[in-house]
Amino acid sequence: MKRTIFHIDQNCYFASVEMIAHPELKDVPMAVTGDSSKRHGIILAKNEHAKRAGVKTAEAIWQAEQKCPGLVKVSAHYDKYVFYSGRLRQMFEEYSDKVEPFGLDECWVDLTDTIGDRDPEAVADEIRRRVRDEFKLTCSVGVSFNKIFAKLGSDYRKPDATTVITEENFRQIVWPLPASDLLFVGGATASRLADVNIRTIGDLAGASREFLRDYLGKSGDMLWIYANGLDDSPVCDSDYERELKSIGNSTTTPEDIQNRRQAQGTFRSLSGTVAARLRKHKLLGSCVQITVRDKDLNSYEHQKMLFEPTDSDRVIFETAMELFDESYDWHSSIRSVGVRCTKLVSDKSGIQMSLFSEADKGQDRRLTKAIDTINKRFGSGTVKSLSELDDVTDRDFDPDMNDGGITRGKKNPFA
Ligand SMILES: [Mg+2]
Repeated sequence: MKRTIFHIDQNCYFASVEMIAHPELKDVPMAVTGDSSKRHGIILAKNEHAKRAGVKTAEAIWQAEQKCPGLVKVSAHYDKYVFYSGRLRQMFEEYSDKVEPFGLDECWVDLTDTIGDRDPEAVADEIRRRVRDEFKLTCSVGVSFNKIFAKLGSDYRKPDATTVITEENFRQIVWPLPASDLLFVGGATASRLADVNIRTIGDLAGASREFLRDYLGKSGDMLWIYANGLDDSPVCDSDYERELKSIGNSTTTPEDIQNRRQAQGTFRSLSGTVAARLRKHKLLGSCVQITVRDKDLNSYEHQKMLFEPTDSDRVIFETAMELFDESYDWHSSIRSVGVRCTKLVSDKSGIQMSLFSEADKGQDRRLTKAIDTINKRFGSGTVKSLSELDDVTDRDFDPDMNDGGITRGKKNPFA
């Protein structure tokens, strides 16, 4: 049966969310930036004016300002991006319960069973209008019979446009496009393909399947299938992110904690285990929470939203200590402490996502270089390429150590 799949991509998502509260920023070149005090002084997103002035995602703020002296800088508000992402998703779920997020600003929606005899293009236009009216955001929508072409469609015309790619027209629309426009064709693959004179998606489709398999392995086979419109992968309703509420760990120390140095050691080891579990489940925490119980068993809880979500031992530890130093007055010694990350998002989400998705299209080699620089500066793996990321399929949790572990709940953490 022919499927009806939408891919909905929010345009300039982080920048657009910032402009909801500050519409005056629409008229000036504006960029969402990392926190310069924390050595994250890079451009995370920009609006159309800044884009036209040559401002690029992932470049250093000072580089952007050289090209665009009047650039208005806005600090990222990650909690807002997560919040609107959840609200948007709720809206899409009115159309189908099969909604698969891809980062914070993109998702696939499978309307095969729900669209009835409505015209898919009209429904896509309705969604765009509602996103505009109800959120003051814009999105582009790709409508197609498989996920790969739907994704391509949302990229084909933007901002705020619908592109319909059908079994009848895909040869005209898709085949002339460069091979690198296809999801999963990164810079390295594109240049290997160019070596054998495969430059467009049409070239890929027309190449011998056996040759591609020999030349690129399994992914060669996959690309041939994609290029010919034969992708049949399902839209997975991933309840995964909302099922997980938090990952944490806590400990009751053998002897009461008497001083800051002891507290520091305990927080450091707890933060390490929490970060390791986040990485294991390919998640990032947006909020760090600590619990402190004194020897009279009074409990104190404090939390802080992070500047950007993390799975780093160091960031979690430093935030935990910051919270501890701000809040604990040492009126008595401490019996137990806990560290927890909440507001979890997939590590494919958000900032990392927006960096590599643009890098992966090979549109900007400087961006790829910038990512390498970021990795050098902040540790390898800070920004990952698509090929390094596995699907989030690990549902096998082990709430092992102490009384920590993972809390599950049906409540939408975005709400
Ligand atoms: Mg987008």
